[in-house]
This record gives sequence, structure tokens and C-alpha cells, in this order.
Amino acid sequence: MQSIDMLFAYLIGGFGAWAAALMMLVAVQGDRLHRGVLSRCAWGFALLGVGMVLSGVVDRAERWPILALAMSALVATLVIYRALRELVGAPAVPRRRRVGEIAALSMVLLLAWMAGARSFAVVFHLVCLAVALGIVWAVRRALVAPRNAAEAAMAVTLLFYAGTWVFALDAAVRHVGPEHRHLLYVEPRFLVAYGVIYALVPLLVGAHVLNLANARLDRRLRQQASTDELTGLLTRRALNERVAGWHADVLERGRLPAVLLMDVDHFKPINDTHGHERGDEVLRAVSRRLRGALREGTPLARWGGEEFLVLLDASDLDEAGATAERLRAAISATPFAFGEERMRVTISIGVAAWPDGGVFARAVAAADAALYSAKREGRDRARVAVRED
Ligand code: GH3
Ligand code: MG
Ligand code: MG
Repeated sequence: MQSIDMLFAYLIGGFGAWAAALMMLVAVQGDRLHRGVLSRCAWGFALLGVGMVLSGVVDRAERWPILALAMSALVATLVIYRALRELVGAPAVPRRRRVGEIAALSMVLLLAWMAGARSFAVVFHLVCLAVALGIVWAVRRALVAPRNAAEAAMAVTLLFYAGTWVFALDAAVRHVGPEHRHLLYVEPRFLVAYGVIYALVPLLVGAHVLNLANARLDRRLRQQASTDELTGLLTRRALNERVAGWHADVLERGRLPAVLLMDVDHFKPINDTHGHERGDEVLRAVSRRLRGALREGTPLARWGGEEFLVLLDASDLDEAGATAERLRAAISATPFAFGEERMRVTISIGVAAWPDGGVFARAVAAADAALYSAKREGRDRARVAVRED
């Protein structure tokens, strides 16, 4: 087996940590959502780099770089620990508590270092193992049910990292002999593996942190693009994205896909008389009632200003018409209450089938034509388009 100079491996790891810090400082520029977490991580990695590089370059007879290495590794691990917790969705921990943790653990290390080589080796490994296990526990959800590949990769890396400390602690406890500047007491044949791991881990974890931040950003943007800000309903874009899959699924279950297009009656006068904000409140209240009147999971989108679209699976057009009638009644039967004020709101609905082989846009156009008939006939009613096939 090849022998390895551990301190040189730390030197490489240290530069890797600085590279990770640099990547984070760059990422912070374009990621407002994770500015705090990524900046903290950048500092953590920069500090880790200092400890690792110092171990590699300072005269090997000196003992203080051991403490510098241990402290920087620990502080960096704690900072990254907190960041990872937040990146998998745990609430942020107050700054005072974070600083307290770092101060307490640094003090423990300092006292152990002053007490001598043996106690320092054991305490250092115990603390590192405890922190690594703490991290694994904090991100256990990512291990059991990862939401994306970034979470899975990060969780597996951390589990492996905690495992390296179990092994190293066992070796440190059993070690008799001089203190090692690199703080590792595993047998020489395992040292190569440890050297490779510690040379790569800072960069690898740095990449995981950035991947996690990206995955979260991606999720947030997707959610924003698919949720209407005012009503919380699906956006037109989100509905368009899922229509094809929904249509195939409904046909497969032997049901009839239908489109319901709804429009609030005389909505402009509501805005003109009561103000735009009240108009917004009406749209929110109408959305809530529609949502409540539909079966869970039925796609309901805000199609335009005061227009809503429902994708309905029915046994036939009559049933779809009956559902439309139920929705109409859900809005008009009880006036909406805004403080003391009561306001009666009505909607008109057009219903059309979207048969096998049909095109969504045509079904929507047919529903729109039926809606137009409902408006013309006096509003507050549902009209069903005649099937063409
Ligand atoms: P009809 O019964 O024929 O549908 O009459 P209407 O007044 O509802 O029809 P019209 O299309 O003329 O008015 C729709 C109004 O909806 C006009 C627009 O200012 C308003 N609107 C569109 N989006 C919003 C919104 O997000 N908030 C508010 N408050 N008003 C909106
Ligand atoms: Mg309209
Ligand atoms: Mg209208």
C-alpha cells in the first residue's frame, strides 16, 4: 500500500476549503434567498482552510498547529452543520446560540489540549464524532426521504463522514505513543484512505451545500410559477403543464374529461364602487369557496383576472353540468361578509367536454362560448356546450 503524508493531504484539503469558500461567495451574489446561510458557510470554509493549510506549512516540530487545526475543523463543522439544517428545511437557530455552541466546544478543546496529548486526542475525536452524529440526526429526513438528489447525496456523504470518526475515535483511544501532528491514529494502511478523504471532503461538502441551495431555489421558483399569488390557486401555466397527463389519466379510468370556465359577474363595478383591494378580497373569497366545493385534488386554476378554470372528471356531461350548478350555487347562495358589509357575488359558468382525441384549446373555446351564452342569458347560471362528436 502506498504511504501518504497526511499533512500534505491537509494542505490540499485546506486549499479545497478555500475554493469552496470562494464558490460560496460567488453564489451569494445571485442567491438572495440563501445569502445568510451561504455567507456563514463561506466563513466556515475559509477558517477550515486556515487550520488545514497551517498544519501543512508550519514547522512540524511545533505543537500549536494541532490546536489550530482542531479548532478550525470544529468551528467549520458547526457552522456548516447549522447551514445544512436550514437548507433541509429546519428553522434557523438564533445567532446567540450558535456563537455559544462554538465558544463552549472551543473551550473544551483548549482545555483538553493543555491537559496533554492523550486527553486531547480522545476529546477531539469524541467532539468530532458527536458533532458528526448531530449533523446526521439533524438531516435524517434527507436520509430517509430525500426530496431531491442533492439531499440524498449530502445525507450519504455525512453518514460516511460520521463513520470515519467512529473508526478514528477507536484508534485514538487505543493509541499509545507520541502525539501525531495530523491527529489521526488509525493504522498506516488506512491512512491513505483518510488522507484522500480529508483532502476531498471540504470541496465535496462545499459542492453539496451549493447543490442544496440550488435545489431549494429551484423548488421555490417552481412553486412561485405554479401558484397564483393572489388566490393561491394554480396558475394558468401550471394548469397547462398538467392537462395532458390529467386527460390521459381520466380517460384511462373510463371517465369523461370536462372543462369548466367560470367568470365573476359584474366584477368591474365591484372594483369601481368598493375599490381594487375589495375586488382582490372578493377574488380570494370566491377562490376559497370554489376550492371548498370541489373534491380534493381537482385542478382549479385562476385562468385570467376574474376567470377560473376547473378540470373535471365526470361520468357524463350531465354530471359535469350538475357540478357546475353546484359551484354556481356555492357562490351565489350566501353573500360574502367583509366586516359588517354583506356582498352578494354571482358567477357564470360554461361547461364543455374534452373527449378522447380532442384538443384542450378547443374544449376551452367551447366552454368559453357556453360561458358567453350564460352571460347573455342573464348571468348567475351554468351552460353546457353541446358535444360535437
Ligand atoms: P361580466 O359580468 O360581463 O363578466 O362583467 P365584468 O364587469 O365582470 O367584466 P369585465 O371583463 O369588464 O371586468 C373584469 C374586471 O376585472 C376588469 C379588471 O379591472 C378586473 N380585474 C382583473 N384582474 C383583477 C385583479 O387581480 N384584482 C382586481 N381587483 N380586479 C381585477
Ligand atoms: Mg372576465
Ligand atoms: Mg366578469
